[in-house]
Amino acid sequence: MSILVVEDDAALARSLTRGLREAGFTVNHAGTGRLARSLLAQPDLQLVLLDLGLPDDDGLKLLAELRRTQPAVPVLITTARGRVEERIVGLDAGADDYLVKPYAFGELLARIQALLRRSTGAQPVQQTLADLTLDLRTRTVQRGAEAIELTPREFDLLRYLLEHRGQTVSREMLAREVWQVRSRFTSMDNVIDVHISRLRDKIDKGRAGSLLHTVRGVGFVLEERR
Ligand code: CA
Repeated sequence: MSILVVEDDAALARSLTRGLREAGFTVNHAGTGRLARSLLAQPDLQLVLLDLGLPDDDGLKLLAELRRTQPAVPVLITTARGRVEERIVGLDAGADDYLVKPYAFGELLARIQALLRRSTGAQPVQQTLADLTLDLRTRTVQRGAEAIELTPREFDLLRYLLEHRGQTVSREMLAREVWQVRSRFTSMDNVIDVHISRLRDKIDKGRAGSLLHTVRGVGFVLEERR
């Protein structure tokens, strides 16, 4: 796992590299957009520290490319451009955080550690409830030792319900978050009810301890009821 420091100021790059290595990170440095591009493809890339003002390239363009190829890698922008609108452009382009030069190294380190905690902590690979297990990496679902075959939509639906376990979720929430339907005028109720009913058949039917429950007039809740 390594941090890529994209910075054309040689003295600053040296001190950043030294500081981050002392903090225990493996560090690669790119002083140009060209070199950065070749290093972005690394499979073990952990975080990118990106200077927006590069001699041969626009850091924002680089950021857009990185978001396409490595969407999960956190990007911390560092730049002398501190104006609010530029900060917003950077965050809109997909940066996770923003630090205006000059900054204290301790501040940088704290931000990096927070981003890494978030990127590794936000996505547990497995979600479980009672004997139900959903694995995000393999996109498989089991109850006890038995594998359950779900369609991609059923999988996404179950994943959303699991992330909101114990909370009643409305059809409106499911339409918005699982089906990505933004228009309030498109009724998804029937579609959702059909999927819920199929999902219930697959995860609950014939088993002791139903997990998927209807909350009349409101929506659905996934929880263990004893
Ligand atoms: Ca620069």
